[in-house]
Amino acid sequence: MPLNGSRIRQARELKKWVQCDLAAAVGVSQSAIARLESGSLEPSRAVLREISEKTGFPERFFRESDLIDVPEGSFLRFRSRRSKLKARDRSYILALAQAAANLHEHLASHFRRFQLRVPHLDRDLPIDDAVSEARRVLGASSAEPIQRLVFLLEKAGFVCLSIPVGRLGDFDGFSAWVDRRPVIVLSAGLGTEGIRVTAAHELAHLCWPGAFNGRVASVEREAYAFGGRLLMPATGIRQEMPSPITISGLSDLRMRWGVSVKDLIVRAERLGLLSEEQYKGLLIRHRRLWPNGEPSAVGLPPERPRALAKMNEVVHGGSANKLAQETGYPVWMVAQILGAHGSKSDLRRSAADPGARVVRFPLPGRRVSSAKEEAG
Ligand SMILES: [Zn+2]
Repeated sequence: MPLNGSRIRQARELKKWVQCDLAAAVGVSQSAIARLESGSLEPSRAVLREISEKTGFPERFFRESDLIDVPEGSFLRFRSRRSKLKARDRSYILALAQAAANLHEHLASHFRRFQLRVPHLDRDLPIDDAVSEARRVLGASSAEPIQRLVFLLEKAGFVCLSIPVGRLGDFDGFSAWVDRRPVIVLSAGLGTEGIRVTAAHELAHLCWPGAFNGRVASVEREAYAFGGRLLMPATGIRQEMPSPITISGLSDLRMRWGVSVKDLIVRAERLGLLSEEQYKGLLIRHRRLWPNGEPSAVGLPPERPRALAKMNEVVHGGSANKLAQETGYPVWMVAQILGAHGSKSDLRRSAADPGARVVRFPLPGRRVSSAKEEAG
């Protein structure tokens, strides 16, 4: 079987190497690496062995074809322009997303796909109507908190991936359409509120015309506006906003709505519930209270994408080894990617944690710990 040059690139980028680094490690020229990666040159057995040894990827990894190609999507178009990420960090993130997507596709081939349900949002639709339609299509009520957004997205056929990048620069996620399927990639370094806000933001990039057409600044603004409304719809938030609006009142509200106090302050201001003076005062108090950023609240229902790990539990009994064997990825990498996803115990933990205030997310007829809620 011929060699898959793009996998040499993938392995190199997963090492955070540029072509010169791999060339030096293997003892060939940089142009040879470039040609190997583009597929215009076949490596000798000795060179392939060297590449395998120096990158830590088994030789057969380089012979497998990719099941899916994750383009840069919103990452390239919107985020990277303002991001402080270095080029090799960007390549690393994309290669990791590519690896996670390949593992997902490999496992998904064992299952029947969920029927894809994507909101079709017309450009002329007012944004509040677009958000209501998105909530309806995803199966969320119009004014209640969305308890587990990522789960709803997975159930609607969105491919949601979590990648173990820690807090790499300002990276929190990106999205792209791949073979007519929406893919959302999230940083595993995010807290629950961060995952929710990022997923809602990326949903906008995928579905809301205002958030994928136009100048970068306006597209980002639209995506944030859409995401904020999706998680904090006007009717529900207006009804429940404490009076007067204080940080401690908002701290209670964040447990119910699963968003940060900061996002609630901003939303209250946008809804005209705060004077400019009150708004500034709250932001100052927020900064004093959490000078290093607001920590994620303990006890929120889990939001990490679940489908990838769940499918591997069904197909391989959760074994990273077997998945690695079948796909050619190194075991440690497969284990890390699986570990970045929601586990079976996530749901139990959140229900058993005495500090968890999961009872504050009432959903009629459903329990937080119900196994049926898990994405499959
Ligand atoms: Zn964006």
